[in-house]
Amino acid sequence: RLYNQVIELKGNIRVFCRCRPMNHDEISKGSSLVVDFDSAQENELKMIGPDSSRKHFKFDHIFRPEDNQEVVFAQTSPLVVSVLDGFNVCIFAYGQTGTGKTFTMEGTAENWGVNYRTLNELFKVSNERSDIMKYQLFVSMLEVYNEKIKDLLVEDTDHPTKKLEIKQSAEGTQEVPGLSQVRVHKTDEVWELLKSGSRVRSVGSTNANELSSRSHCLLRVTVLGENLVNGQRTRSHLWLVDLAGSERVGKTEVEGERLKESQFINKSLSALGDVISALASKNAHIPYRNSKLTHILQRSLGGDCKTLMFVQISPSSADLGETICSLNFASRVR
Ligand code: ADP
Ligand code: MG
Repeated sequence: RLYNQVIELKGNIRVFCRCRPMNHDEISKGSSLVVDFDSAQENELKMIGPDSSRKHFKFDHIFRPEDNQEVVFAQTSPLVVSVLDGFNVCIFAYGQTGTGKTFTMEGTAENWGVNYRTLNELFKVSNERSDIMKYQLFVSMLEVYNEKIKDLLVEDTDHPTKKLEIKQSAEGTQEVPGLSQVRVHKTDEVWELLKSGSRVRSVGSTNANELSSRSHCLLRVTVLGENLVNGQRTRSHLWLVDLAGSERVGKTEVEGERLKESQFINKSLSALGDVISALASKNAHIPYRNSKLTHILQRSLGGDCKTLMFVQISPSSADLGETICSLNFASRVR
C-alpha cells in the first residue's frame, strides 16, 4: 500500500525532520535501516515497512543522519533572527526518547546545538545593527513536569523552588511571576548558564536522562529592542523547547507514577498538536488552555508568530512504530 503525506510550509508554521545516525547498539544488533532518502524526491522521505511497502512523508526540510549541527542551524537561523525584528518565535523538538531532541536543541560541548548557536547569532546580529537598534537580551529556563512549572535558573538549588503559575497581565500577555530572568551580554556567558539550567533539571532524579525524557524543557529568550532613530520599542520572545519523549508507555509501566507522568505527557503533546493544527487550519478557536505548555506559549503561537517543529526520528527498524507515530503527528500540524 502506498500513500503520500504532504507536510508543507503553511504560513508561519514549518516542519523539519531530522533523522539521527544508527548507533553502535543498533548496528551490533543488526537492525536494518527503515528510512530511505535517496529514492525519494527533495524534502521527502520514504519509510520502509516490514513488507517492503513504502510510505512517503514530505517536510519543509529534511536533515539526514550525516547533516551536522551547522547544517541544521543554517536552516534555522533566519527564523531565530526574526525575534530581533519583534516577532515571537517558537522552536520545538518533538520525538521519541533517544532520537536527538536534546542533541538538536542543547547539543554537546563539542557539538553545540540550536540554543547556543541562536544566542550567538542574536549577539552577532544585534552588534551589526548597533548604530540603529539597541537590544537587551534576557534568558529564562523552565521545566514543565506533570503540569507543574519549575524555574531552572534559580541560584539556590538547596531549597526546593516554589511552584510557578501562569498569570494573565493587564495587556493580555501570559506571564510567569517569580520566574528568574538573567540578562546576557555575550556568547561566553551563555553555555555555562544553559548547562546550569540542565543540571537543575535533573536534580532529584537518579537517572538524568530518565527524568529529562518525561518533562518539557523551555528556554525563553526575551528581546527588548529600541529603535534609536524613531524611539520605537519592542518586546518579543523566542522559545526553544525540548519536549518530553513522545513514546507510548510499555505494558509493564501502566501503573503508578509512570502512568500519571505518561498521561500528563500525552495530554500536553496532544494539546500542542491541537493548537498547531487549529492554527494551520485557521480555526477561530485555538485551545491554548488545555495544557500548561500551550498556555505559557499562547502569545508566541499564532498571529504573526513563527513556529518551527523539528520532528526527530530514528533510522532503525526497531523504532519503526514510534517513527511512524511521530511522522503522523507531524502531518497533523501541517
Ligand atoms: P533525546 O533528547 O531525544 O532523548 P538525545 O539528544 O539524548 O535524544 O540523543 C540520544 C543519543 O544520540 C545521544 O547520545 C546523542 O548524542 C546521539 N545523537 C542524537 N542525534 C544525533 C546526531 N544527529 N548525530 C550524532 N549523534 C546524535
Ligand atoms: Mg533529551
